[in-house]
Amino acid sequence: MEQAQEVVDDVVEGVKNVAIGDKKPKVKKEKKKADGGADAGPLELDPEPKFISHRLEVFDRLKANYYAEIAAKPREPISIALENGSIKEGISWETKPIDIAKEISTSLGKSVVVARLNGEEMWDIMRPLEASCKLELLTFEHEEGKRVFWHSSAHILGEASERRFGCSLCIGPPIESGFYYEMGLPDGAAVTESDWKPLETLVSKFVKEKQVFERLVLSKDELLEMFKDNKYKQHIIKDKIKDGERTTVYRNGPFIDLCRGPHVPDTSRITTFAILKNSASYFLANKDNDSLQRIYGISFPDKKQMAEHKKFLEEAAQRDHRKIGKDQELFFFHELSPGSPFVMPHGTRVVNAIQALIKEQYMERDYNEVITPNMYNADLWKTSGHWDHYKDDMFTLKVDDQDFGLKPMNCPGHCLMFDHRIRSHHELPWRIADFGVLHRNEASGALSGLTRVRRFQQDDAHIFCREDQIKDEITDLFDFLQTVYGLLGMTFKLRLSTRPEKYMGEIKTWDMAEKKLSEALDQFAATPGGVPWETNEGDGAFYGPKIDIAIRDCLGREWQCATIQLDFQLPLNFGLEYMSSEQAVKKADEAKPRVKEAKKGAKKETEKRDVVAEAAPAEGSEIKGSEVKKERVYKPLTPGCARPVVIHRAIAGSFERFHAILIEHYAGKWPFWLSPRQILVVPVGPGFYAYAEEVRKIFKKGGMHVDTDLSGNTFPKKIRTGQLAQYNFIFVVGATEAEGRQVNVRNRDDDTTKDRGQPIDLQVALEKLGFMLKERSSENPFPGEAKPVAGKAE
Ligand SMILES: [Zn+2]
Ligand SMILES: [Zn+2]
Repeated sequence: MEQAQEVVDDVVEGVKNVAIGDKKPKVKKEKKKADGGADAGPLELDPEPKFISHRLEVFDRLKANYYAEIAAKPREPISIALENGSIKEGISWETKPIDIAKEISTSLGKSVVVARLNGEEMWDIMRPLEASCKLELLTFEHEEGKRVFWHSSAHILGEASERRFGCSLCIGPPIESGFYYEMGLPDGAAVTESDWKPLETLVSKFVKEKQVFERLVLSKDELLEMFKDNKYKQHIIKDKIKDGERTTVYRNGPFIDLCRGPHVPDTSRITTFAILKNSASYFLANKDNDSLQRIYGISFPDKKQMAEHKKFLEEAAQRDHRKIGKDQELFFFHELSPGSPFVMPHGTRVVNAIQALIKEQYMERDYNEVITPNMYNADLWKTSGHWDHYKDDMFTLKVDDQDFGLKPMNCPGHCLMFDHRIRSHHELPWRIADFGVLHRNEASGALSGLTRVRRFQQDDAHIFCREDQIKDEITDLFDFLQTVYGLLGMTFKLRLSTRPEKYMGEIKTWDMAEKKLSEALDQFAATPGGVPWETNEGDGAFYGPKIDIAIRDCLGREWQCATIQLDFQLPLNFGLEYMSSEQAVKKADEAKPRVKEAKKGAKKETEKRDVVAEAAPAEGSEIKGSEVKKERVYKPLTPGCARPVVIHRAIAGSFERFHAILIEHYAGKWPFWLSPRQILVVPVGPGFYAYAEEVRKIFKKGGMHVDTDLSGNTFPKKIRTGQLAQYNFIFVVGATEAEGRQVNVRNRDDDTTKDRGQPIDLQVALEKLGFMLKERSSENPFPGEAKPVAGKAE
């Protein structure tokens, strides 16, 4: 039973992952409104849709059986272990988590949202415990509590939607922030913004009714009967629940939904509720299926939280990178290449400034930059494993009648580079960086501004190293992260994801790697400015543990950009090795040039991929668990050689995405070194155009992005335009300035200079701004004084 429920949940998850693009409500078919739709119509359908009473009949008929079943369960004493170590006594099939919560405190009784049993199973707080267990009582503040709270809110939204539209509900999952319900309206009608208010009114009515969430377990046949009028639920039941299996439905008020739960105890918990947007989608995210409508909402247990959230959304909308990107002419998209941004000159300046920073770090940290192909024969992807596991996300093409793929990542190409000749242990760690263009075939519905694109570049690098070098490499990466994010005024969180159930390699290798990573994490946490870390048990990739880095922007939003991933599998797939001792040198020399000879017995020159496919026994490479194919056999190590470990790492991640994050982080008010518009020279009149142009050229030679405003606009208008465009400095030049070889500087970030700037000697300004640029400083280069700072002239 649990299994079937899980599958239903997976569908929900799967759909959720496909597309939560912030698309405008695409009005697919401008058809007639649903009955009672839009502002003019009544709040809800009258009479109510027939399927509502049908579902209730089935529910009422079956619940007696279920309750009898529960009543017949044995009542025995059980012990309930709480988080603080104390033990409570209870009775099986009677004691409910809510009882324990109330016993602890009245306020916990009111705020507890859901229980978690034995650290894993989520449990309704009104559902009797069945056996002794470890009990956690989670509130909205807990991540899981939030999900349950929002998921329960989705039920109420579903209830309101049925009552207003007579729609067929599909799925209603919680998302990162809030929830949505997806549905098909009669005649393919679309939800409009004018429906939001009526839906909110219905929701608040159901909240006031304090509808209790009731759980009932049903068989597949019973479910099919209950949901006979809803083709989407029918599809999910038929597709995901095996014959003979049972799963749950939940009822609140007259509303019943197929769901594995759990939920809040009753609707009154949803103190405040708001609809935020609606959009169009496809059933199961497949464009060949019905077009559906999605309504997104948010809810909180406390009105204050709602007010804060709305303020946050306003602020975020102001900072939306798509809006600022347009205002500042940074980038655009064109329908002739969906998902591939056109980065305009000013946007390119920003990206270049970030790349320059990264490249500077590469020099300092001993990386080497490389350039690699964009498309490869499918054989490469077969060796790397992408052809089996990632092909759907790749763009493939035919070249000379053979299958090729555009690279979605750089690692396989880098493996070919490592393997290009014999490597010695002296060469490790070998750090190679690649700004190559990558393509991934994102579903068109998932594309969203710069944050989800098909064409992008990363500050990607791979470190080929020995096992004993892992810790030092990781330590350097933390320092790298701190340098970059510190400069940008962003903090970050670190999470170590450890060995999953299905993994490849030896447990001792994993233990070793995890130990090294946690040592490096501990060490970093203890340094000044270090960051504490958490463990994500069992969440590593099957080929190695990883460290997830979530950065936090100035609105407190988390973004996943940087990654650090250890990989034992890729070196194996490519048969990579290095000479671990000097003795191996001779042998290796003989073997040169390193054309894929199978060493031992060197029968014939075999293509490496064939070696991979047929050759000798694997070395501890089987995958525990299933899923990943087992037949694969790897090239054995040459005597005297060892396998390198690969560390995949990116600091900024995709530049496109990072660009978007920076736009929103700074709200378009770029710091000087990142700014695409650093200086605007404004002459007070046509008589000073020549001097203005001279000033522009001087600063341009100094490496700065500088413009002159020689338009026919009035002086105040020119200043205003410069301010709106977020120039860091506006230089006003008139008679005094021209004569004295000065500029009158207005600093965007210094209010005291807003209306009347400071006269600064041209040479001084050039030096100070040059220094500011080089040091990527944000300090005011011309701090105000009581009297205007005098240039030496006059
Ligand atoms: Zn539910
Ligand atoms: Zn990689």
